[in-house]
Amino acid sequence: MLWNWIALSRFEPMENILNYINGELVAPVSQSFLDNINPATNEVYSYCPDSDERDVQLAYEAAEAAFPIWSEMSTGDRSRIMLKIARLIEENNDALSLAESIDQGKPLWLAKHGEIPRAQSNIHFFATAIEHFASEAHPMGNHALNYTLRTPVGVVACISPWNLPLYLFTWKIAPAIAAGNCVVAKPSEITPMTAYLFSKICMEAGLPKGVLNIVHGLGPKVGSAMVGHPKINTISFTGGTKTGAEIARVAAPMFKKLSLELGGKNPTIIFADCDFEKTVKESVRASFTNQGEICLCGSRIYVERSIYDKFKTAYVTQVAALKIGDPLQDETKVGAIASKVHFDKILSYIELAKEEGGSILTGGKAFVPQGRCENGLFIEPTVIEGLNHLCRTNQEEIFGPVVTLQPFDTEEEVLEYANSTQYGLACSVWTENLGKAHRVSAKIKSGIVWINCWLLRDLRTPFGGVKQSGVGREGGWEALRFFTEAKNVCVKL
Ligand code: NDP
Repeated sequence: MLWNWIALSRFEPMENILNYINGELVAPVSQSFLDNINPATNEVYSYCPDSDERDVQLAYEAAEAAFPIWSEMSTGDRSRIMLKIARLIEENNDALSLAESIDQGKPLWLAKHGEIPRAQSNIHFFATAIEHFASEAHPMGNHALNYTLRTPVGVVACISPWNLPLYLFTWKIAPAIAAGNCVVAKPSEITPMTAYLFSKICMEAGLPKGVLNIVHGLGPKVGSAMVGHPKINTISFTGGTKTGAEIARVAAPMFKKLSLELGGKNPTIIFADCDFEKTVKESVRASFTNQGEICLCGSRIYVERSIYDKFKTAYVTQVAALKIGDPLQDETKVGAIASKVHFDKILSYIELAKEEGGSILTGGKAFVPQGRCENGLFIEPTVIEGLNHLCRTNQEEIFGPVVTLQPFDTEEEVLEYANSTQYGLACSVWTENLGKAHRVSAKIKSGIVWINCWLLRDLRTPFGGVKQSGVGREGGWEALRFFTEAKNVCVKL
């Protein structure tokens, strides 16, 4: 019945997801497929290509063949095709949201009102941005004129993770193709469905064959073949820090251009002079949206001691009230964990927190819903206190519905806590004191700081992390610069 809904909105019910190579939907060369599991029921519901380096090579050849035409097409023509893709995403929001929710475990409403509209915005944003992208000129008086040419780099690789599947996939593909590159892309094999539906959208929109090629399969097979491909010299990757390190290790001796968006362990800093009600509500959202499986989620909450007990009571009350269960129900706030491997990892961190002396204030175990999701992968939103900021629970990325609370006394102390991890992706600060907000923002070691808000995004702003949270920035001009090569031309006058 669910697939009928998708069929009604133009997508056929299917068992096998297919690769998208040279404008066609094709099975992998190996003819083998991997089980694709619905985490809310823990049942196989479709099959994902188990591709390998042969499929990557075919994708590369298609991209290489398409490059001369696509890169020389006017920005206006490229933009028009991309705008059509954006429109088709919007028209198919219901089907894409349903597919994303089933594939990833997130609440359907979140996919429908957050993620899929954002995928549409990603394409729309870069389709229009490319029309305004300009390069610099540097006149040397009457002697000479320098001007900078920005040309597409060629065939690029885009590799994305499972937590925000279509959102992050399009966040890379959109600037890459807008700038005139051709792409070999790999979504996570844990959540391949919306990338597959996206390939159908690209076909319907008339994207020329070979401009985008999507190869499904495992990271160590497909991803590493893309990274190690001798002719693909630009890689945009979002995923874990460990995988990013492996990619950097392979890419460095080949002098590839890299953009790495990696893990996070983001602090939420709450001062006593915050707007209390708003802070509690938003910090619950920052902790548990998408089951805490967003790289930007705040997982270490530091609260000024004078309001610590009051905050703890209010926060834990709201967390305990979050409805967990069937992602397809409107009232569900916390859905399923994306995979069994990840589910086990999160539970092991809860055990570690207990061993390290933490007290569980709410949650702390797997959740078993009644009915169709009784075998699904659910974990109660979990709040822990009593841990030192340097313990493993507070230092390592858990990437699930698990949060720690810790009091602090001074600005210096909380900055030390906040900056103590190997990560530096995002931070949110809650205070009504303007001077303090600016002071703390300047001293936080992260790529993004939100003051009195969380996940408020403007696609023009630079996005990325410092330390082991990444290398480079996405978003706006940063992304278009990454996907182009600058060449200075100096003319003697
Ligand atoms: P992984 O690093 O495991 O995987 C990311 C992607 O890389 C997947 O498509 C994966 O394939 C692929 N991959 C795995 N091994 C290799 C390899 N050797 N070479 C090339 N590609 C490979 O991350 P997760 O999917 O588990 O995603 C969660 C992580 O992503 C978290 O650490 C999170 O913080 C981070 N993240 C960062 C964001 C940011 O903007 N900074 C945003 C969102 C998430 P497959 O899974 O199919 O095997």
